[in-house]
Amino acid sequence: MAFFSYSRSPRHLIALATLWMVTLGNWPLWEQLARLPELANVRGVIFTLALALVIDCGIVLLLAPLAWRWTLKPALTLFLLVTAFGAYFMHSYGVVIDPSMIRNVLHTDAREVRDLLSWRMAFAVLALGVLPALAVWRAPVAWPSWPRQLLRNLTLMLLVLLLAAGAVLLAFQDFASVMRNHTALRYRINPLNSFYALAFNLWQPAQRGGGPVAPAGLDARLPALPPAAKPPLVVLVLGETGRSDHFALNGYPRPTTPRLAGLGVASLRNVWSCGTDTATSVPCMFSPLGKRDFERRESDTEGLADVLQHAGYAVLWIDNQPGGCKGVCDRVPTVRYDQLQAPGLCSQGECYDEVMLHGLEQRIGQLPPERRARGVVVFMHQMGSHGPAYYKRAPPQFKRFMPECATNALQQCSREELINAFDNTIVYTDDFLASVIDWLGQRQEHWATALSYLSDHGESLGENGIYLHGLPWRIAPDAQKHVAWITWLSPQYTFQTGIAPACLNAKQGERFTHDNYFHSTLGLLSVQTSLYQPALDIYASCRK
Ligand SMILES: [Zn+2]
Repeated sequence: MAFFSYSRSPRHLIALATLWMVTLGNWPLWEQLARLPELANVRGVIFTLALALVIDCGIVLLLAPLAWRWTLKPALTLFLLVTAFGAYFMHSYGVVIDPSMIRNVLHTDAREVRDLLSWRMAFAVLALGVLPALAVWRAPVAWPSWPRQLLRNLTLMLLVLLLAAGAVLLAFQDFASVMRNHTALRYRINPLNSFYALAFNLWQPAQRGGGPVAPAGLDARLPALPPAAKPPLVVLVLGETGRSDHFALNGYPRPTTPRLAGLGVASLRNVWSCGTDTATSVPCMFSPLGKRDFERRESDTEGLADVLQHAGYAVLWIDNQPGGCKGVCDRVPTVRYDQLQAPGLCSQGECYDEVMLHGLEQRIGQLPPERRARGVVVFMHQMGSHGPAYYKRAPPQFKRFMPECATNALQQCSREELINAFDNTIVYTDDFLASVIDWLGQRQEHWATALSYLSDHGESLGENGIYLHGLPWRIAPDAQKHVAWITWLSPQYTFQTGIAPACLNAKQGERFTHDNYFHSTLGLLSVQTSLYQPALDIYASCRK
């Protein structure tokens, strides 16, 4: 630390800290650039140096207004820590940091954080963030009078603006082509990616008015039940990280769905998600708008759960995810994950998904009787295959594929162990869905029962060094967007609606998306509203 033993000017401190961030803190970016064949020449080297200079200038531009006696060191500490966390996650999981990734970070909770903690992470953050931050705090800084410091800060900002402009001009063609052809690179620019994404998330809700959620489907109604008919009792499972091609039902060679295979379910094999993470997909799939219009919406409106409630159904939302329902269940009766409890299914504040069946009869009994007489819709939001701690998602008796990856530091596991751990989560989801169907089967005397399961997004399992999910939709691999959609109908349900599993299975290869979910579910539940678009209802053509 002799390096820091004499007083230095604030500018020196900023220069040293940003140099650290641009070089080591951006290792994942430089690694990525080194893999681009078009940059493997002298021009590539010049471009890389120019890009480093532009990033350095960008960081300094943010720091310069904070270069005051009481703010500079805290700001540098924040920048160094954000850089360290960003570098660790980008390097370890192949993720990038964009607005939806930061939205997930803002919505996270202790349980999810615990799943991500590891010694590797502690070491990386210590080496990349904490140690340089300590060095910053030890460094004595010579502060001039405040007018002088103001002048210096302004000069510094002007200087880096000119430098950055010069660097861009120097390699303009390469900047244009690399940024156009590899759009995700910008989400690897550390720590500017985190600050940009944070600002975007603060700005966007403000743009949408941030006002109350507008009602939707107030005209929804149910047709009167014919005399021989029974009221519907339907469970709609919102799956988590259910990657389609790892379901044996969808052609996966390993027996991951043995129980469902014997239950005559229909499974669609060509279904694509709206987003690549929960916070993006869930509100989008519950919205009547569809992906394109949902992303352009100017204000938030009610969704599927609300419309079912407006139609007169008794709606119940059961959530086994600490992250909750991302707003889509806010206006219906809800059971949160920390209200779930069952012997043998819970430990350390976490429960296996089958906990949602525990006490369900009583929970439904508490819903308004006049609504129950028209029918009951229960949403179940699974923990499913939530990573990276896949090994925590299935009880021991469902661990059909061994050895499995038993750590959250996925890079330490072999590909085989990682896939085993993920496949075991699908085996457990198979058992969970089959158990819900059993539960529904026992209630057929009084109800017309049915189940649908649709996952929110897929998952990368180490293909090309990419893990987990959440890459920007445009560049995300198919594995993160390809989701499973399964329907089970009791004979009574088929009798009342005319929808037969065989008809659905004939559509197995047809391409569907989350855009179909809202309208199909209204169709499945016979809801009449002006919002309903039959063209998007996958069940419509199967109806009598
Ligand atoms: Zn999810």
